[in-house]
Amino acid sequence: MIGSVMLMAQAPQPATKLRIIAIGAHPDDCDGKFAGTAAKFAKAGHQVKFLSVTNGDAGHQSERGAALAKRRFAETQESARRLGIAEYQVLDNHDGQLLPSLSVREQIIRAIRQWNADIVLAPRTNDYHPDHRYTGVLVQDAAYMVVVPNVVPDVKPLRKNPIFMYYEDNFQEPTPFRPDVAVAIDDVWDLKIAALDAQVSQMYEWLPWVDGRLAEVPADAASRKQWLSKSRTRQISPAVRAALEKRYGAQAQQVQHAEAFKLCEYGRQPSIASLQEMFPK
Ligand SMILES: [Zn+2]
Repeated sequence: MIGSVMLMAQAPQPATKLRIIAIGAHPDDCDGKFAGTAAKFAKAGHQVKFLSVTNGDAGHQSERGAALAKRRFAETQESARRLGIAEYQVLDNHDGQLLPSLSVREQIIRAIRQWNADIVLAPRTNDYHPDHRYTGVLVQDAAYMVVVPNVVPDVKPLRKNPIFMYYEDNFQEPTPFRPDVAVAIDDVWDLKIAALDAQVSQMYEWLPWVDGRLAEVPADAASRKQWLSKSRTRQISPAVRAALEKRYGAQAQQVQHAEAFKLCEYGRQPSIASLQEMFPK
């Protein structure tokens, strides 16, 4: 990791520094959806924060409660360190019990305002996991309220509504994901895998257990990281490949790994061309 830290120090600082907050339901969700693009934003001098809406205290087959939340918090901090992002915050809401309540909406409004976000990322609202669905709803519910002074009056409202974006997903109903921006992440794939590799309780214990693949996980650190890279490699969808072609031309055919995002209709509505400028290439 020393190499990437040096690279970041040498990278030219952009004229406009963006402040980006990626929001997920669980303390590894932002990593899975956004770590590659986040690493690129961070390398270019932008300020990136990850926020988990729950503390992850239900995500394990044999551990639970405060001890699990503590372990997972430590994993988020290591992930953030490896990615070179500014901050990874975890809100103290129970995992598996998230509801789109007013109090959690206020926590999210606070977090977006305090970060003074230019770009907010969140899941879409249709997903197999209720915590993911409600995180999508909660962020949508905050998308206008962040500028309203009488809502959460103890934190200064934003004068400029941020851009809200969705992560890619594979759900087909009610509408399939249509990317507005796709980012090739082959050059930071190792960093993304390093971030996920820090999420030991999830990548090597809980998720393989849920999938009935625990016996496949190699014992030693180097081979399990290779296994993780292989099992995390997904075929790029035709829609994302087309979005890559728009940005990268013929080079898009060679791209192995990508992350893609869709503009949410709430919040600021930049042109797709200016979104393309904002996102790293
Ligand atoms: Zn999750």
